[in-house]
Amino acid sequence: MITSVRGMNDLFGEEMARWGFVEAKIRSVFRAFGYTEFRVPALEKVEVFSQTVGEDSDIVEKQMYTFTDASGEKLALRPEGTASFMRAAIEHQLHKQGVGQRYFYYLPMFRGERPQKGRLRQFHQFGAECLNDSSPESDAELIALLDTIFRALGIEEFTIRLNNIGDEPTRIKYREVLQSYFKPSLAQLCPQCQGRFERAPMRILDCKNESCRVIARKAPILLDHLDPKSRAHHQLVKAHLTALGVPYVEDPYIVRGLDYYSQSAFEFDCQLLGAQSALGAGGRYDGLAERFGEAPIPAVGWALGMERVMLVLEAKQLLGTQTLVPHYFFAPLGEKAFGTLFSLQLSLKKEGVSVEMSYEKGRSLKSLLKQANRSQAKQTLILGDQEYDRGIAVLRDMETSQQLEIPLKDLKVELMRRVGHAT
Ligand code: AMP
Repeated sequence: MITSVRGMNDLFGEEMARWGFVEAKIRSVFRAFGYTEFRVPALEKVEVFSQTVGEDSDIVEKQMYTFTDASGEKLALRPEGTASFMRAAIEHQLHKQGVGQRYFYYLPMFRGERPQKGRLRQFHQFGAECLNDSSPESDAELIALLDTIFRALGIEEFTIRLNNIGDEPTRIKYREVLQSYFKPSLAQLCPQCQGRFERAPMRILDCKNESCRVIARKAPILLDHLDPKSRAHHQLVKAHLTALGVPYVEDPYIVRGLDYYSQSAFEFDCQLLGAQSALGAGGRYDGLAERFGEAPIPAVGWALGMERVMLVLEAKQLLGTQTLVPHYFFAPLGEKAFGTLFSLQLSLKKEGVSVEMSYEKGRSLKSLLKQANRSQAKQTLILGDQEYDRGIAVLRDMETSQQLEIPLKDLKVELMRRVGHAT
């Protein structure tokens, strides 16, 4: 048997219906906040990520799916949305269209990770980006937006962890401070962090390895070394969140794994998730445009993981059943009835009335009614050749088993009227 790639799931049936329900809710929050949808292609030139996310990041170092196409161009399957978004924003000069351009995306992402619960190789992210806006209000808005989405879905068991990682010169100075702190304990760090020591010492701070964590927890923190502008920005973001009633904790260890972040960095951690506890994360990326060779474009954004949202909603049993119940089930008995009901159901569907009918011929009334029950339709239309010859059909209420006769000539109008559709 040919199966799907490990860590890449098929979605269908009840599960797909639940996804659709959640997606619609999230989209409605975006609408209220004035974010419009953005789609980028699944494939990008590899530089979109290697030049921006950082050569040393996990994503670029070991998780990106890359290949060389027939023309010799090196391409990558999109591992994250922000770099693609910025590539597109620059290509279409969106930042010239004014301050505070708001967009959201809903796209599959691809990362060659070791799959486990809440960690897949193809997963889905909703992301929000506010382009060409350097105000602390936009950071606060983005955090409040993510908070609103989770609460609208019924998720409240999360902690917002907020940090400010300063501007680039601050981080360069801080790297040196960190390196002199970590140097004496280098041998106790995990092999990956030993590699990070020279190139990206800040990443040691969010390493999940216990021995690194113990050492990292005593490291000097960047908040104590912030430049005055970043400090003022951070104070305002915090003040806005407090005024908005969005609770957060300050966490100096949120540094984010990607190079292009500056200033605000945040994560939404969910207590109901296991090891993969981040429901969503984001930050400010004022320096990203420069990595594309452009003048700086201030921007802030985040991404949330749909698979993890669904895990939480299922754990909380908040989804119920989302199966679509048809207005009617059609049960034809005999050839003439079959032909009549076949055309009628299609013409009703065109009018927006949903009908379930099996195209399997020669079935007994018993087996048809069994299927009708399964469909959960409240009413079943029964038509046998005898009824056909009498010019009527029988409409059965599936709850009370009451049946009534409807003349065939009135059938379409009557069935539409009964579900509130005018003719
Ligand atoms: P990131 O782009 O790594 O900052 O991730 C943003 C959000 O996407 C995380 O908080 C998760 O909810 C989700 N996410 C990231 N990687 C995966 C993955 N491999 N599988 C499922 N969800 C993920």
